[in-house]
Amino acid sequence: MTPCHLHKFGGSSLADADCYRRVAHILLTHGHSDDLVVVSAAGKSTNFLYKLLDLSDSKQLWQEELQLLISYQQNLIEQLLSNEQARSLRERLSTDKSQLSTLLALTELNDYQRNQVVSFGERWSSRLLAALLRESGVAAADVDARTLLVADEGAVPQIRIEESRRKLQALLAQHANERLVITGFICANDKGDTLLLGRNGSDYSATLFASLANIDRVTIWTDVEGVFNADPNRINDAKLLKSMSLTEANRLAHLGSPVLHSRTLQPLFDTEVSLAVRSSYAPHTDFTLIAPKSSQASAPVVTSLPSVSLFSLNLSAELPQLLDAFVEAGLTPLAYWALAHKRVELAFTHENQKQAQVIFEANRQALGIEDLQVNQELGLVALVSADANLYRRGFARLLSRDAHPLCNDGLSLVTLVPKKQVNLLTQKVHRRCAGPRKRIGILLLGIGNIGEAWVDLFKRARSALNKELEVSVELVGLLSSKRALLSETDIDLSNWKQEFEQRATPWQYSHLFEQLENLECDELIALDISASADLTLQYPEFFARGIHIVSANKLAGSGPLTFYQELKQQLGNRRLFWRYNASCGAGLPVQHVLNDLHNSGDDVQAVGGIFSGTLCWLFENYDAKKPFSELVHEAKALGITEPDPRDDLSGRDMQRKLLILAREIGYELELDDIALQSLVPAHLAEIKLDAFLERMSQLDDEMFRQYQAAAEQNKVLRYVASLELVESKLKAQVGIEWVDNHHPYANLTPGDNVFVIRSHFYQSNPLIIRGPGAGREVTAAAVQSDLTQICRDLLQE
Ligand code: ASP
Ligand code: MG
Repeated sequence: MTPCHLHKFGGSSLADADCYRRVAHILLTHGHSDDLVVVSAAGKSTNFLYKLLDLSDSKQLWQEELQLLISYQQNLIEQLLSNEQARSLRERLSTDKSQLSTLLALTELNDYQRNQVVSFGERWSSRLLAALLRESGVAAADVDARTLLVADEGAVPQIRIEESRRKLQALLAQHANERLVITGFICANDKGDTLLLGRNGSDYSATLFASLANIDRVTIWTDVEGVFNADPNRINDAKLLKSMSLTEANRLAHLGSPVLHSRTLQPLFDTEVSLAVRSSYAPHTDFTLIAPKSSQASAPVVTSLPSVSLFSLNLSAELPQLLDAFVEAGLTPLAYWALAHKRVELAFTHENQKQAQVIFEANRQALGIEDLQVNQELGLVALVSADANLYRRGFARLLSRDAHPLCNDGLSLVTLVPKKQVNLLTQKVHRRCAGPRKRIGILLLGIGNIGEAWVDLFKRARSALNKELEVSVELVGLLSSKRALLSETDIDLSNWKQEFEQRATPWQYSHLFEQLENLECDELIALDISASADLTLQYPEFFARGIHIVSANKLAGSGPLTFYQELKQQLGNRRLFWRYNASCGAGLPVQHVLNDLHNSGDDVQAVGGIFSGTLCWLFENYDAKKPFSELVHEAKALGITEPDPRDDLSGRDMQRKLLILAREIGYELELDDIALQSLVPAHLAEIKLDAFLERMSQLDDEMFRQYQAAAEQNKVLRYVASLELVESKLKAQVGIEWVDNHHPYANLTPGDNVFVIRSHFYQSNPLIIRGPGAGREVTAAAVQSDLTQICRDLLQE
């Protein structure tokens, strides 16, 4: 059986006796009997050991310092272990002390001896932790990694994978059901001489052992909770990432982020091992999990370096050749830029500057490198995300003139700026790209048929919108005429009706606006898909409170002129938006076209058409063979008319739509300025609905007569709205017209709307828009389109 979990504890997790107890507790509560454990040296022991070497090198006294280090170890032993266990460790420590003294007393130490001195830190901590675990009643043994990891020497030791794997597997077979506490940081050459894996190398030991033992999960227990989306010491609202992909973590490490080193991550590539980074001080809080093959891009991370070394040079070879030379030497630049005239720039950390210089020199001839210069005046700001492209525009907008253009490798965006700009830019990038997203709340006013269609549409369109605009658009309120549901959190779009049924409460305007103030949204957009006049009277209050409106409701756009003008004035130059394309022709883009013509310098001279699907249907189908009223009954049965067909037959609805369009092109009209020829005679206008339906046949004779008369002239009847300038006088009317058989108003699909626009550009051959102008889907689509447009306008800088 192979163990499935490896825990690694760093020096800060082992700094004193309490730390050790905490670690033992974690192993007992989070672990299994055959877990592997990898440890660093306790506290600052490694630094201490290097200091002893320095003292010895410079022929100063090291004895006192050595005694301090030994006492520190001794103290840990006394505090943590019972007499029995302590005795044996005490004895071994005193042997170690004499060995160290012998080594430090040498006139000159070779590299292996120096490494041996430094290796004591890890050996002591593995010994102590194993003893402490045994003391707690579980089987445990300490292991010196020099007996397992065999390496060839190089700039860094190159582990012989197969050989080391065999040794580890053999050891595991001997120690089933025993916790093995292995030293990090150290390994050996094939003669058994001590080699070191570099500062902070025990994280690398951990992932290496995990890959050699086919372990599922490595946990690096440290003094931070995991990887944050920005440096929490500098950015107040930096957030812990719960997950991250290995490639993203690797890029972040390459860019100099201190939490994980790139070397640590290498053994994990091409394995199934996942890596958790979590705090040994707070084992119950959230942590970061780095998954080897995570398909999900994590939230973006912003990172920075206060200063870098930027090399610039003339290069005869191609840039990829130079980059290859660096890859071969095992050094990746932080970022690079190709400038004009064969000049290129490569940025490195200061630590890597020397090594980079050596590589440039080594390739000077072969690649034609000239005029090599180093600049140390710049710092780095970068964003890491598998979705880096999504943030490119947002990031680029924040760059000052003296910033480097973004270097984008698909996984990160990197810029260099003068050192003093680093902090501010980091904050800005965090706020803009990684910080909390702008929350745009939607209130749905009216929850009937169209509301339902809109929710369906929104459910499908939302994630693309959020992604494109880098926002979070959420449904936060539902309102019917009687009850309201306002929600702090996003209302579940799959379950909104039920939520409304269960949680909505009666509402009043006074109270409603107060509640809206309390919603934690950066912006609120109300979608008025009601037909309520009451609601339109509240528009000024909505606007006064900075709430944007999308109307399918016609009553505000066609309200009294002063009211309309006051609304427009309220919008003024504020970032406040009111869109009402849905109120006329549903999804047909009539207002867009009128605005477009206006913007392109055209001059609209006439607008006309059939703006009612119901009236279009009636007149397309009326052929005088059956009475007109019978057709109205049929339409009503099909659900094509309003509940009271007089709302259609009166022409009021078309009159209102024409008014909306007239105002859109700049005419300051009142509703009564548009002549209205109702199909309902005055004496039938006010009576009860039932009575009207009974007496509707009174419409038939007049309709029949007109039909015949028109037919004699080869014309047909249509109910039409029109607005035009006749000898510079405006003529606006709605009513029956006789039109030619070939007129754009004839031969429509019953139920369509048609809009005919004449302008300076479209004189003899008018611009025609036609198609379904009513219905739940197209109206919902028009609302969604207006909503999207407002979101875009809001996010434009
Ligand atoms: N003890 C070693 C160091 O301090 C290794 C490690 O902590 O990872 O560098
Ligand atoms: Mg360490």
